[in-house]
Amino acid sequence: MDERSVDVLVIGAGQAGLSAGHHLGRAGFAPGDGFVILDGGDGPGGAWRHRWPTLRLDRVHGFHDLPGLPFPVAGPDRPAAEVVSAYFAAYEREFDLPVRRPVRVREVRDRADGRLTVHTDHGSWTTRALVNATGTWTRPFWPHYPGRASFRGRQLHTADYRGPAEFAGRRVVVVGGGTSAVQLLAEVSTVAAGTTWVTRRPPDFRDEEFTPERGRAAVALVDAAVRAGRPPDSVVGVTGLPLTPELRRLRERGVLDRLPVFDRITPDGVAWDDGRFVPADVILWCTGFRAALDHLAPLRLRAPGGGITMDGTRVVADERIHLIGYGPSASTIGANRAGRAAVREIRARLAPARAAH
Ligand code: FAD
Repeated sequence: MDERSVDVLVIGAGQAGLSAGHHLGRAGFAPGDGFVILDGGDGPGGAWRHRWPTLRLDRVHGFHDLPGLPFPVAGPDRPAAEVVSAYFAAYEREFDLPVRRPVRVREVRDRADGRLTVHTDHGSWTTRALVNATGTWTRPFWPHYPGRASFRGRQLHTADYRGPAEFAGRRVVVVGGGTSAVQLLAEVSTVAAGTTWVTRRPPDFRDEEFTPERGRAAVALVDAAVRAGRPPDSVVGVTGLPLTPELRRLRERGVLDRLPVFDRITPDGVAWDDGRFVPADVILWCTGFRAALDHLAPLRLRAPGGGITMDGTRVVADERIHLIGYGPSASTIGANRAGRAAVREIRARLAPARAAH
């Protein structure tokens, strides 16, 4: 297949990639040969397309509009996956965004002429600038515990969860201290024969309201980590779990009585070195996600600290590359802003050469 050539290539059409696409269009990059957005999904929606059907709009933390098109008015009981996917589809149409899908990027390599080659399952593109907006959903994190392979029951990750019905009458161990763990516990505990919640550290419940100041402080912490080349924590990892009325009710029901994580998994349950044992039919790993960046490995961007050293959205080691929806911008509002910031810098870098064309 021929190699196609663009000025800017965006990988991923979630909130971050669509925001970048919007700003690229406004900055005068022509859809098609000026910029293209490659997306591995089967349809619009980014990761939201895959969120569990019981995640309704009134349960999401807060969804920020993409630039230039308000989020539609929809009932709070509508599944977030449906509503957001329809909104993203409308957005792509409204701004005539050149999204190509399903196109999965396999690897990005350097070229002798200063461009980058983006190899995909549908041929290759070369580009002068790369905006990586691949999110985390395609990289669920499964921690290793001794005996995991011996477990006779079912193990699944947040990314596989489709709703509580299939856990009716089951004994379920939920692993993880974040928002997803608590939301899934709330659902599963209504039908399961029993739930056991285990977390590495005591859960960080916060009595005070989640304010914009606290949000900014959390983002600043993650920003400091990526500027220093450390892998980013999840933003929830630094904001804690606000004690909503729902969480208070769960606590009263004893669902949030938490145990430290077990030391090993046995064929029939989970066990601690102090002799405790909890029988289980299901282990539900709500252990988070990692940034989906494997396709960038040939560029060797990682710092000794294991992360990628960033200056805002720009990779310090390679000014051609921006990571958005990464680290401090891994939220719908952060992804919006990161798209705009990345395009501003790319435009400034490419402008002299474009003017000379
Ligand atoms: P995504 O939406 O994940 O989009 C990435 C896109 O890149 C996908 O379409 C994917 O198919 C594509 N892609 C990945 N790899 C490749 C590849 N190699 N080649 C081609 N395409 C690829 N944030 C909030 O602000 N509010 C919330 O309520 C909220 N709830 C969340 C709930 C859960 C369970 C999780 C995990 C996260 C939540 N977040 C929330 C954070 C959320 O991840 C971000 O807000 C935002 O939606 C992520 O957008 P994104 O564009 O960075 O990534």
